[in-house]
Amino acid sequence: MVRLILLGPPGAGKGTQAQALAEHWQTPHISTGDLLRAAVSNHTSLGVEAQSYMQRGELVPDHLVISMIRERLNQADTQRGWILDGFPRNATQANSLDDLLAEIDQAYDCAANLDVPDEILIARMLGRGRQDDTEATIRRRLEVYRERTAPLISFYRDRQRLKSIDGNAEVADITEAIKQSVGNFRPATEPS
Ligand code: AMP
Repeated sequence: MVRLILLGPPGAGKGTQAQALAEHWQTPHISTGDLLRAAVSNHTSLGVEAQSYMQRGELVPDHLVISMIRERLNQADTQRGWILDGFPRNATQANSLDDLLAEIDQAYDCAANLDVPDEILIARMLGRGRQDDTEATIRRRLEVYRERTAPLISFYRDRQRLKSIDGNAEVADITEAIKQSVGNFRPATEPS
């Protein structure tokens, strides 16, 4: 069983990696960005509330994303592992995740941080063509990442659960590096 947190700036390739790893481990990929975008297109009350934050590149309020994650991690398919992509995004969310996992008697294997230089992030996001990928929003998302999310690198390093990975390598090599680092954090008796 694998429980992995993917960290990294917007555009680092977390979604691409999460998808490949979810297939490899046959485990759910939980992307708060995808869940929020689905809520927006379904015009749910969550979507209506989240939309303006997303369009501005700001974080959606913590209580909304935390309750979304709480609900998801209580579903049957996530009892056998998960890959978190885009959550946690700040210290409040990271602490809430710790509390939630303690409550449901789960623990993460490690947080893999995808390291990518800014110029590459911007180019990748501009090439993606997502609705919130305008230049101003991209700039704001990077600022928010630096202010609120990057401190989580030391949060997980302090817990001896951090693995930094070069996110500027070939996609398949990055996938391999993540698999390897998760293996190193897990008990030797579990199959990979
Ligand atoms: P992403 O697809 O992860 O880049 O997320 C797209 C947008 O959704 C972000 O710019 C935020 O507005 C919002 N979002 C996604 N995940 C979170 C989160 N964990 N906390 C707050 N806002 C989030």
